[in-house]
Amino acid sequence: MSDVRIPEETAASGRTIPVEDPARGTIIADIPVLDDAAVHALATRARMAQPAWAAAGFEARGAVLLRARKWLLDNSDRMLDTISRETGKTYEDAQLELSVAVESFTFWAKNAKKYLKDEKVAHRSVFIVGRKVKVRYEAVGVVGVIGPWNYPLVNAFCDCVPALMAGNAVILKPSEVTPMTAFLVEEMLNDSGIAPDVFAVAAGDGATGAAVIDVSDTVMFTGSTRTGQAVMERAAKTLTPVSLELGGKDPMIVCADADVDRAANAAAYYGLLNSGQVCISVERVYVEAPVYDEFVGKLVANVRELRQGANEGAGSVEVGALTFAPQLDIVRSHVEDAVAKGAKIEIGGKAGTGTGRFFEPTVLTDVTHEMRCMTEETFGPTIPVMKVDDVDEAVRMANDSIYGLQASVWSKDTAKGEAIARRVEAGAVVVNDAILNYVAFGAPMGGWKQSGLGSRHGANGIRKYCKTQTIMIVPFALKKDLNMFPYKPWRSRMLGKLVKAVYGR
Ligand code: NAD
Repeated sequence: MSDVRIPEETAASGRTIPVEDPARGTIIADIPVLDDAAVHALATRARMAQPAWAAAGFEARGAVLLRARKWLLDNSDRMLDTISRETGKTYEDAQLELSVAVESFTFWAKNAKKYLKDEKVAHRSVFIVGRKVKVRYEAVGVVGVIGPWNYPLVNAFCDCVPALMAGNAVILKPSEVTPMTAFLVEEMLNDSGIAPDVFAVAAGDGATGAAVIDVSDTVMFTGSTRTGQAVMERAAKTLTPVSLELGGKDPMIVCADADVDRAANAAAYYGLLNSGQVCISVERVYVEAPVYDEFVGKLVANVRELRQGANEGAGSVEVGALTFAPQLDIVRSHVEDAVAKGAKIEIGGKAGTGTGRFFEPTVLTDVTHEMRCMTEETFGPTIPVMKVDDVDEAVRMANDSIYGLQASVWSKDTAKGEAIARRVEAGAVVVNDAILNYVAFGAPMGGWKQSGLGSRHGANGIRKYCKTQTIMIVPFALKKDLNMFPYKPWRSRMLGKLVKAVYGR
């Protein structure tokens, strides 16, 4: 791509990786790979730049982000084109990323200070009567953010935003499949007046990611569960804290009293958005028997209307390409495995035959938990639908998973919907909607079970990039407290009585 500048200083290892346009099957760039020494050099410069960035204060850091927001909106065509070209996304899928990003800049510029201000700690311990206790937050130093290919702006750069707002320097290791967006982000921040070396892009593959872990004070990782385990293992060597946002197999539970039209529209959209390459997409559906036929009929009718292909501008196609080459084999093998075990293809079911990497939007029925499409993350444009006798069976099936990222429940009775939501093992459950809780930036987003560790957004979304320091101050004090040396029988007895008087009631 001619209009995204690849920084020269990244040309370190001599190795390069080709970047593909998956919707057109063409190579759009060759990016240099940073080796261990180059990542260490970036970290050294980041450490030198960080104290001044931390000292600049929330207003100054927020001002850079708000200028970046303006830059992003002024340069939206360039950003949308870059995201779409390296991912194969539709125009609207790229536009969604950009909209979430500007909301993220706005949220953190406004709220970082509130989450990180000193906190008074109330206490009633008799041992520290009269003492003042407070907790303060301080930036850890250098944060390493390692991102996946499915949302190169949102799931990579947007996790850098609170880290920067907390006063850290950040090294972003984008996916080697989609690095161009990160280079454009670097240009955006430089044009917005960020101090040199506070933000850097470490382009490369897994080895570069491992080097980033070694030089970071905290690691924020988004990607597959398997790589998440490797990241945690590597970070254990230096006892570096990690936050892990991993895979999911999000269930959708459709109750007999659901608005079936809305549920079928949402299943098509949230199952096939971004070609199903969304960690929190609808990956499997459980429908109560009385509305099963109606739901499947409406879902298939919706999917039949969809156009798939390369992005030719706004409104040109609904479903884009598969970004990452091995993903095509995973999707195909899940469909083949399901069919071999008795599933029925209602629509779709095949890879595209023209240029570009596409798999038809697919609806599967007669599926069971013996099939990979119901237990493993497919991360593609497939929607397997299972009929269940009742809500209890739906909840049991939803919870029959190693994952616990997100879920959705559909019922016109929202109190009942919430009661079901509370029984589902997932970090977030949405009633009569899906995915959109992601933009409620004040609420934590993170997975249970093997879907992750920690969370993004909300208070923890920025405090995790900080060290805490507890400060206790003694304003007025005796020359000697009762518990100090030397021990005397009367003082020990008095202390014993005091504890009984306070806690024995
Ligand atoms: P991945 O795990 O293959 O790669 C993620 C990143 O890790 C890449 O930048 C990669 O280069 C890097 N990496 C690979 N090996 C590494 C190592 N040993 N040490 C350090 N870094 C290493 O994931 P992916 O295929 O890019 O993304 C798809 C996965 O991401 C899916 O499972 C999806 O569910 C998940 N995801 C989760 C969330 C979430 O918020 N929970 C969001 C988006 C994507």
